[in-house]
Amino acid sequence: MDVSTNLPIPTTALLVAAHPDDADFGAAGTAAKWARAGAAVTYLVVTDGSKGSWDPAVVPARLAVRREEEQARACEMAGARPPEFLRLRDGSVENTMDLRRELAAWIRRLAPQVVITHDPWKPYMLHPDHRSVGTAVCDAVVAARDPHFYPEQISRGIGHHRPEKILLWSASVDDHVEELSEADVETKLLALRCHESQFESTMRHTGTSTSEAREFEDQIRARCRSAGEIAGFQYGEAFKALNADR
Ligand SMILES: [Zn+2]
Repeated sequence: MDVSTNLPIPTTALLVAAHPDDADFGAAGTAAKWARAGAAVTYLVVTDGSKGSWDPAVVPARLAVRREEEQARACEMAGARPPEFLRLRDGSVENTMDLRRELAAWIRRLAPQVVITHDPWKPYMLHPDHRSVGTAVCDAVVAARDPHFYPEQISRGIGHHRPEKILLWSASVDDHVEELSEADVETKLLALRCHESQFESTMRHTGTSTSEAREFEDQIRARCRSAGEIAGFQYGEAFKALNADR
């Protein structure tokens, strides 16, 4: 299979994630690389992340606040702009026309050349929010690019906008690789380390200095190495790339 590599550095990139931390797993290295080169990188998080804990004693509303702070720190690490939050209830995202309209407005307002999100076509992807957000974002790109969708946005001055590429992380089929330097990989790890509330449930460890934490970071490095290998790089992040004109 042909594998494309290294898009031109975008002026603007938009990462849309179901939960705080998803975008850092999926594309924090690429976000960091582009931000360092001058791109305006925005993370848009769709849910409040309030169900992201294995601890029955956790108060969901407090967890949501904590996770927004964690995502804000992670964005700072990656050199991205402060994150934006839609605050839909965790676990309850549906690909509704309202969500499509809202996402299309974000795409039109920010006018990114590249939109990065979940692969909604990945078979057996269990989490419903990941499926719904991936689908909603791809549908919103179609709506954002064509002027007859949401004319009320156009009349408010939010002109239609066609991103050049959609990149899907954790994809069923990887056909695009962004090369990462050692420093980009370290930045991705720093961003992931900001999501302290997720250490136990997502990262399978309880602190930053445990052997489990080192094991987790080794796994991330190994994943970046295998993604890079697809294209002959030392490190990378791999995606399915879509043109926004199909
Ligand atoms: Zn998630």
